[in-house]
Amino acid sequence: MQRLAGSQPRTEPPPFPRKPFASAPPPRNKARHHGTPHPRRYRGPRAVTTSTHPSTPTAIERELVTLLGAEAVLPGSTRAYLSDATESRNLRGRADAVALPADPAGVAQVVRWCYDHDVAVVPRGGGTGFTGGAVPDGGVVLGLERLRAVRSLEPELWRAAVDAGVPTAVLRRRARESGLMFPPDPGAAEQSQIGGNIATNAGGPHAFKYGVTGVWVTGLEVVLAPGELVTVGGPVRKDVAGYDLKSLLIGSEGTLGIVTGAWLKLTPAPEAAYPVAAFHDSIESGCAAVRSVYESGLVVAALEYLDEGSVRAAAGAFPGDGPAGAKFLLIAEADGSAEEAGRVRAELLEVLGAGSAAVYAPTEPRAVADLWRWRDGVSIAVTGQRGGKVSEDIVVPVDRLAEAIGGTLEIGARHGLEACSWGHAGDGNLHSTFLIDPAEPDEVERAEHAAEELFALAGRLGGSVSGEHGVGLVKRGALVRQWDPAAIAMHEAVKRTFDPKGLLNPGKKLPRATE
Ligand SMILES: Cc1cc2nc3c(=O)[nH]c(=O)nc-3n(C[C@H](O)[C@H](O)[C@H](O)COP(=O)(O)OP(=O)(O)OC[C@H]3O[C@@H](n4cnc5c(N)ncnc54)[C@H](O)[C@@H]3O)c2cc1C
Repeated sequence: MQRLAGSQPRTEPPPFPRKPFASAPPPRNKARHHGTPHPRRYRGPRAVTTSTHPSTPTAIERELVTLLGAEAVLPGSTRAYLSDATESRNLRGRADAVALPADPAGVAQVVRWCYDHDVAVVPRGGGTGFTGGAVPDGGVVLGLERLRAVRSLEPELWRAAVDAGVPTAVLRRRARESGLMFPPDPGAAEQSQIGGNIATNAGGPHAFKYGVTGVWVTGLEVVLAPGELVTVGGPVRKDVAGYDLKSLLIGSEGTLGIVTGAWLKLTPAPEAAYPVAAFHDSIESGCAAVRSVYESGLVVAALEYLDEGSVRAAAGAFPGDGPAGAKFLLIAEADGSAEEAGRVRAELLEVLGAGSAAVYAPTEPRAVADLWRWRDGVSIAVTGQRGGKVSEDIVVPVDRLAEAIGGTLEIGARHGLEACSWGHAGDGNLHSTFLIDPAEPDEVERAEHAAEELFALAGRLGGSVSGEHGVGLVKRGALVRQWDPAAIAMHEAVKRTFDPKGLLNPGKKLPRATE
């Protein structure tokens, strides 16, 4: 392992290094805070008026300016805050105002004001989500982008405390400079934020060995309704004292609370990482290789795949040699000390070499980084094929992967759509994708129907509608397919408890689409 750099002696365990928290103003009307027992569908702001004229600030904007200052408020029509990565399937929302508070106290003030005035509040990180989770349907978009401080990084204790708005790549680089690693690596790391990753419990290629974001979170600073800044957990690595509220908030997609900061675990960075990319002639051969890796007992850091259509879409930028017309590409990575990574790589070459058509296995750090950069660009390359895509991250038991990959192609063909998939083979997590021209409403509609069939396929194969992107807007209601009624009722009860007025990211993550 590399030596940890930058260690500094400390004498006492640190509290969360939070900026001073000025308490939020008291609620104007307490009765309203407790008087609505059930969430209801958000139907627009009450008691405040909005304006459709772009140059006239709405009443909501004016109130937010009073709370936060003019530099922290943008018109609701500001396009950059109305969509996320689902824009390539034509999803775009509307908002009454955009609030960009500078600190957790400001976040609490916005939530307090919104709760007091029955205005929806839609938290927004980097806007890279694939489910429309950050796409508003009226109300206030609450951007976390100004909360950008790495509050502390303690290499000697393998931990960090960060603001929610820190971009994923910034934290990963900072950890790396100290010989450490923050393992979660969702593909759009320069834009996505730690808060967004926590809100979606994001994964990534290396989640196969290291787990999803939640594994690395030991504590959260979060604003709960009606505007309370609270902490759950902290720098402790184990804590079983209460119900696991931290885990309930992780992956809650902004529907239970707004993350303003987090305590995170780090781990020593592996000294070496060696990917082995093996091309196959068929889906069956590629999926058999996935199974062979499992059976070999090798602990690999990542086990990724691309099917034929995905390889074709990204082939032009592939950083090595590969056979033309490959039907499947599997990328496994060995990591650890140089000796360990080298040993696993050698065994991987044997396991994957056997049934494959060709192998590309770089060892130079630059070539390794190029391969992963290429892998991160697959989603964009696929989108570039026709200008848009409807892509869903279904997950199935790993032994059903070949059926899910083949099933994706069949569904596409039935709807007259070009289809492909890629994703995290080791976790059985596909990005099943239908290519569309967003300007063709008929295609978009057919792709949405195809997505419904995908969810049914995931269910039939014993899987789930989302392995890492969440439910957001585009999969609302899909949970009824896979959960018992009692579990659905519990899901709804949790939402009511955290958000009695139903104002936190309304319309998202709904287990049934009846509202
Ligand atoms: C090219 C590309 C590759 C990707 N690869 C992966 C991948 O490998 N694995 C993966 O899991 N995802 C991947 N994603 C999806 C996306 O990057 C992740 O879901 C990411 O974690 C979203 O973070 P964000 O900051 O952009 O959140 P946003 O898109 O802004 O928001 C996502 C959801 O979280 C909520 N939210 C955001 N911030 C907060 C907060 N502070 N408190 C409470 N709620 C909040 C929003 O309301 C919304 O519901 C990829 C996306 C792209 C475009």
